Amino acid sequence: MESAAASEPLLRLRKVSKIYEAGAQAVVGLTDVDLDIFPGDFLAVMGPSGSGKSTLMNILGCLDVPTSGAYEIKGGPVSSLSPEALASLRNREIGFIFQVFHLLPRYTAQRNVELPLLYAGVGREERSARALEALRAVGIEDRKDHLSNQLSGGQKQKVAIARALVNRPALLLADEPTGNLDSKSGGELLAILARLNAEGATIVLVTHDLSIARSAKKIVYIIDGRLVTSEKFREMRG
Ligand code: ADP
Ligand code: MG
Repeated sequence: MESAAASEPLLRLRKVSKIYEAGAQAVVGLTDVDLDIFPGDFLAVMGPSGSGKSTLMNILGCLDVPTSGAYEIKGGPVSSLSPEALASLRNREIGFIFQVFHLLPRYTAQRNVELPLLYAGVGREERSARALEALRAVGIEDRKDHLSNQLSGGQKQKVAIARALVNRPALLLADEPTGNLDSKSGGELLAILARLNAEGATIVLVTHDLSIARSAKKIVYIIDGRLVTSEKFREMRG
């Protein structure tokens, strides 16, 4: 028998809006977004530049809060969490991969990957073992002792993925992760994401590239801050 929990969304947004107050002007980030993301989903988010994709990712990853609406993770409202609980949730449950890699240039690949474990209070030996395991999982273990600024873009992104994975998060958020990569490195990255998804990770991937989005199980579009499904998007384009 399937358990009831299996059909419960991991992430649930209801009428989520985000307004940025930029000086005297209010800028719309998102408007009334309803979205359920289930465990094991692989969702691609597409849409023009400035449409609200990163705003959505920042909210999903608890890096920013909605102006209005409800956001729940595993059925619990995020707005009711203390700052400490939120930081701990972010560190344990969510891995981020960005277009720019945010690696510390004077640290080795391995040390970059160990950082989230250091923040989580994991001891030195376990840090080292788990960082190596994560580097191995993305096929870049042989570069573990290189300083991150000695790596190519594709290699940096692999290290960034290893860092996102090292806490074994349930949710991986990738915001245009192939944006700075050549097509071969982009393809390798996608293969890694697909494998992680097959192993159980829930993935949300922002991309401009339809051929990349097609690797996902579902695609949604964000247009002027509003979320539309693929069917609706095709209708809008006639
Ligand atoms: P995308 O990722 O789809 O390119 P964003 O989510 O970054 O779009 O931006 C959506 C809208 O919100 C844009 O008009 C952008 O200028 C605005 N915006 C994003 N972040 C901020 C911010 N911190 N302050 C003010 N406006 C912002
Ligand atoms: Mg963006």
